[in-house]
Amino acid sequence: MWQANVFTIFPEAFPGTLGVSLIGDALAQKKWDLNLIDLKKYPVKSDRIDSIPYGGGAGMILSPLTFEKAFETLSDNQKHMKKIYFSPRGRQMTQNDLQKLSQSEGVTMLCGRYEGVDQRILDYYEFEEVSIGDFVLLGGESAAMTIIEGIVRLLPEVVGNNESIHTDSFQEPLLEYNQYTRPKEFHSLEVPKILRSGNHEKIDEFRLKQSIEITKQRRPDIWAKYVAEKISR
Ligand code: SAH
Repeated sequence: MWQANVFTIFPEAFPGTLGVSLIGDALAQKKWDLNLIDLKKYPVKSDRIDSIPYGGGAGMILSPLTFEKAFETLSDNQKHMKKIYFSPRGRQMTQNDLQKLSQSEGVTMLCGRYEGVDQRILDYYEFEEVSIGDFVLLGGESAAMTIIEGIVRLLPEVVGNNESIHTDSFQEPLLEYNQYTRPKEFHSLEVPKILRSGNHEKIDEFRLKQSIEITKQRRPDIWAKYVAEKISR
């Protein structure tokens, strides 16, 4: 069973969005596992789990001694899973990363709070620093939920309609076309006629054209990659 080990000082933030709908059902049915490790339970000396930074500056830094104690609660197998630390200075994660992680046994995640964590935790335990975007959050918990959700939806059996995964943006090399449902007309905006024609060949053609236009316009980087791959093939 695929497993996420999450180190956090706010385990009460979970399962959050991971507890609803398809992903929540899959969690209840033990199709994947969420192992929360509460860092507050592993204070060093008195009652501290963090301390002020050497060299000065604002905020608190998670102690490596606290992390070490908490890490010891993992099994040998869990200790060898890929480790990621959420951080705005990390490498931005992509669908490709999530795909790889979904094919592994699981992942260990460390959520920072306040100023972050002692660098030696990252160096000693070989964490990869990853970001979910160029902005700054207050903590890594929502980043962990985001990444776990992205991984778990790729696990076989979790998302009912497996086909829908494969037509989503980023699974395909192009961004997704526009989607419509009933009613046919909404405030004088009409659903494109072709989509109502029942001609599947024409519909596929229309959607592909739209995907291309949207990708060119919004993500010239993805479009350039798509073109380069077409040429090299
Ligand atoms: N002092 C740090 C920011 C700390 S923000 C710095 O300047 O790099 C507190 C925590 O929020 C971080 O430790 C990280 O776990 C999380 N976080 C903030 N922004 C994030 C982002 N863009 N992606 C992933 N995690 C983020």
